[in-house]
Amino acid sequence: MLRDADRIFTNLYGQQGRDLKAARARGDWEGTAELIAKGRDWIKEEVKASGLRGRGGAGFPTGVKWGFMPAEGGDRPNIIVVNADEGEPGTCKDRDILRNEPHKLLEGILLACAGTGSHLAYIYIRGEFVREAAILEEAIQEARDAGMLGPDACGSGFSCEVYVHRGAGAYVCGEETGLLTSLEGKKGQPRIKPPFPAQVGVWGCPTTVNNVESIAVVPAICKRGSDWFAGFGRERNTGTKIFCISGHVNRPCNVEESLSIPLKDLIETHAGGVRGGWDNLLAVIPGGSSTPALDKAACEEAVMDFDGLAELGTGLGTAAVVVMDKSTDIVRAVARLSHFYAHESCGQCTPCREGAGWLWRMMERVAAGNARIDELDEMQAVADNISGNTICALGDAAAWPVQGLLKRFRPTLEQHIRDKGKRAA
Ligand code: SF4
Repeated sequence: MLRDADRIFTNLYGQQGRDLKAARARGDWEGTAELIAKGRDWIKEEVKASGLRGRGGAGFPTGVKWGFMPAEGGDRPNIIVVNADEGEPGTCKDRDILRNEPHKLLEGILLACAGTGSHLAYIYIRGEFVREAAILEEAIQEARDAGMLGPDACGSGFSCEVYVHRGAGAYVCGEETGLLTSLEGKKGQPRIKPPFPAQVGVWGCPTTVNNVESIAVVPAICKRGSDWFAGFGRERNTGTKIFCISGHVNRPCNVEESLSIPLKDLIETHAGGVRGGWDNLLAVIPGGSSTPALDKAACEEAVMDFDGLAELGTGLGTAAVVVMDKSTDIVRAVARLSHFYAHESCGQCTPCREGAGWLWRMMERVAAGNARIDELDEMQAVADNISGNTICALGDAAAWPVQGLLKRFRPTLEQHIRDKGKRAA
């Protein structure tokens, strides 16, 4: 279990103030100018050495991503964009950072700017986070007034301006190119990569998009050292992580823990265990609604990190753990997710636009017991033809829950269909 002394987010639950004074008392904004003075390369290399992988779902190494940003002095400024469009069902970690630790994020943004040669940052926050947007605006004003941000941030001589941009509530704007087109004031639709945002990003400028949590841990990495951060978890899966545990557990919670913690320990130690006991467990979605669900046998061995979950055919995603006990109709639950993804498809790619709706309609018929068993193969084919064949990962997100269900819960699906047949007879 992670020691309190090793927690980065010491006000995750909002038990203390979130203002600048309270944040400083917790160590935020301490020695920031000295870190900036060490230079762009030092900050970037420190983040790279820590092994930090993006906390928004994709898990790409953050320091490596920063390394794609060009040198300063070109005709277009470098820009940092913070992805605060947290919309993956089951996920509520960035929201707690935004409302309870805004200064940790702002300090992280300043260091991310210094580490990428950027002097301008935007926080793209989902429209529904009304209070959090107001909190951020307040925190930015406080930081500007105190000289922590602005033309001479923290007295370092480095200029850094941060602006908040509110989205309009589309899930697809959590995808980085969709987010950038929305930030430009256009319809939030993803675009094909390359060019990658570090080459051609927002308004054509080199841009790095990072998740809130990824940025907010940067000050701790720079202050406590990359070795310290890399000491948690295991190789390629280092650091601490905020896990969101919801569903059929006794104490749903957000908790910061070491990566690579076994799933069972995570649930039993922090969430009070599965409702009715571990043996009452049916399934767990380990990383937000798009990641395939694990059955109980897989949950026994699941290690909560990028590689551990990939080995089980699922993913860490946003580390949003949704627990389902045996009272759950998992077919109905996945049908509901299919509706969500069909609704959120932006419609640009045929496999996603047509396939997500097709999957949803098939899932509804299976859930109602109105499908034939041989249609499950057709459902598999539809899902397989979406996955990997679209512009952005929303297509995959629509396919994965269904593929996971077919892989681990096929007997349950077949039972649904047979039961309906019995009722009709
Ligand atoms: Fe839009 Fe779906 Fe294609 Fe993504 S995969 S660009 S959401 S149609």
